[in-house]
Amino acid sequence: MSPRFDFHTHTYHSDGVLAPAELIARAHECGVEAIAITDHDVTDGLTEAHEAAQDVGMRFVPGVEISVSWGGQTLHVVGLSIDTADTALQRGLAQLREFRYWRAKEIARRLAKRNIGGAYERVAALARGAVLSRTHFARFLVECGHARTPGDAFKHYLVRGRPGYVPGKWASLDEAVGWIRAAGGIAVIAHPGRYSLGHGKLKRLIQDFKECGGQAIEVISGSQGEHERFTRIAIEHELLASAGSDYHGPENAWSALGRLPALPSGCRSVYDALPPVAAAA
Ligand code: AMP
Ligand code: MN
Ligand code: MN
Ligand code: MN
Repeated sequence: MSPRFDFHTHTYHSDGVLAPAELIARAHECGVEAIAITDHDVTDGLTEAHEAAQDVGMRFVPGVEISVSWGGQTLHVVGLSIDTADTALQRGLAQLREFRYWRAKEIARRLAKRNIGGAYERVAALARGAVLSRTHFARFLVECGHARTPGDAFKHYLVRGRPGYVPGKWASLDEAVGWIRAAGGIAVIAHPGRYSLGHGKLKRLIQDFKECGGQAIEVISGSQGEHERFTRIAIEHELLASAGSDYHGPENAWSALGRLPALPSGCRSVYDALPPVAAAA
């Protein structure tokens, strides 16, 4: 049986709130035995987390969550057990962060037209050098009283059709999976339940994903229900099954760090496909 693992979490290097070492400490308290940190389009903080995990005897899996444009929408692909020194991966992630920087200025420009000024400066200050995300804009909009909660800020300002929405120009599926595979990692479709895909489009996504070299899907995610549906899909399409909380911090509604149901029987766990842990020197 696999240990208790949580293979989808965020730190303050992207839109989470905890430092990598704080996240590891909290996961340890919650009984997590193996963890992947999967920040959006960045691998900063993995060394700090790895050291903290070693100190408490937790297995650490270096990860990333890559933003992808596919079929006219944004998807997320998690990479597990990646070599963070891989230059193609790092070049690709740097391009995505460059787009995020441009997009943040564009979101701020659009908000300014609605008399919400100073957004870029405040968001950059809130992010403190981290990857710039819509989550930072949501926090800014709450802070200056334009929304009651980050969820409301998304709903009223940051999603398609709303004044601060800027369409994503992310990596292609082929690029994202290719970077992960070239860096020795396992590519995982993140939270498939969050994309509102009908049966046909989901099937097409899985086909494309497998053709690119993708191997796994999140059957259990803190940010989606429908475990049974995705379990059936993983089995039918011979994908490995992953599970992750998508933890962003103590205040977030998706914050069941490590408190995930066990993988349903019949799935093949992504845990068993990880490379063996190197013996300590
Ligand atoms: P971005 O990658 O910058 O476009 O931001 C996407 C991030 O925003 C996701 O990873 C979530 O953490 C967060 N997010 C998206 N939708 C919502 C929502 N409705 N409420 C709160 N957070 C959200
Ligand atoms: Mn996020
Ligand atoms: Mn995601
Ligand atoms: Mn995530």
